[in-house]
Amino acid sequence: MRGAVLYGPRDVRFEERDAPTIIEPTDAVIRMSATCICGSDLWPYRGINPIAGPTPMGHEYCGIVEDVGRAVASIKPGQFVIGSFFASDNTCPHCRAGYQSSCRHRALVGGAQAPALRVPLADGTLVATRDVPSDDAIPSLLALSDVMGTGWFAADAANVKAGATVAVVGDGAVGLLGVLSAKQMGAGRIMAMSRHASRQKLAREFGATDIVTERGDEGVARIKDLTKGVGADSVLECVGTHESMMQAIRSTRPGGSVGYVGVPHGVTLNGEELFYTHVRLHGGPAPVRRFLPDLISLVFNGKINPGKVFDLTLPLDHVAEGYRAMDERRAIKTLLRP
Ligand SMILES: [Zn+2]
Repeated sequence: MRGAVLYGPRDVRFEERDAPTIIEPTDAVIRMSATCICGSDLWPYRGINPIAGPTPMGHEYCGIVEDVGRAVASIKPGQFVIGSFFASDNTCPHCRAGYQSSCRHRALVGGAQAPALRVPLADGTLVATRDVPSDDAIPSLLALSDVMGTGWFAADAANVKAGATVAVVGDGAVGLLGVLSAKQMGAGRIMAMSRHASRQKLAREFGATDIVTERGDEGVARIKDLTKGVGADSVLECVGTHESMMQAIRSTRPGGSVGYVGVPHGVTLNGEELFYTHVRLHGGPAPVRRFLPDLISLVFNGKINPGKVFDLTLPLDHVAEGYRAMDERRAIKTLLRP
């Protein structure tokens, strides 16, 4: 089997790897229907997160179950399944509280940019669809594996309510799907912060009512202008830099909430400033597993079409070009077909 392996900055190779097999009795092996490249894959790709050695890449997946371990009870060969980037037992106290990405037995799922994948804790991690979906539903179902679930968590953590005024920091796939999530949750006004014409267009399609092109302090000032000096009720932070986090906190009204899902890189918070903002902060690695059943229904019922974030589709063996396109911001998100 050939799959994507990162060797160093901007060096992704598509090369021979061992085909996955059942190792633990709770494992499943799935044949990939589609996989993709994540914005977070760009951190190691750009060398910002150094890697220890050649690293199999990819953590977003959906496909057909090929084989299961002897302890797997609910997941069966032939089912179409979607799972999150963290495997979880879905039974421990943290899972039962809805925080499967903090599962006591969590395990990172890696190496998904390949034709097949081993998924640990299959019963707790994978959600099977009732029927095998048609090919045109695959991009939207794949998006649930990470970016849609993460955008949804950003909106959920930011406490988006019907009629709320929402700001979204970040116009990557997660930010754009944060817009879509806020719209689904009934937000009255959604201000998307973006400087890119194609992303602004998609943000509007997903439900953004205002586009803010300013950043940093100017972006905060613009959000304040648009809200008569009040600030937003809910702000979704979908980048993970110090600037974007401060932009999110300072755009929020006293008593409002920030949902932060960008993996922090160099974010430091000043306790005293935070104290006087009166802002709630909640975030972290999205417990995508919590939202999968509902999001699958929304896709099957045609209520959401998160697959629109894929603006480049390549055969899996062209994975290196997919990384380049995202690195150079020529593509929002690359879908890979085995
Ligand atoms: Zn658990």
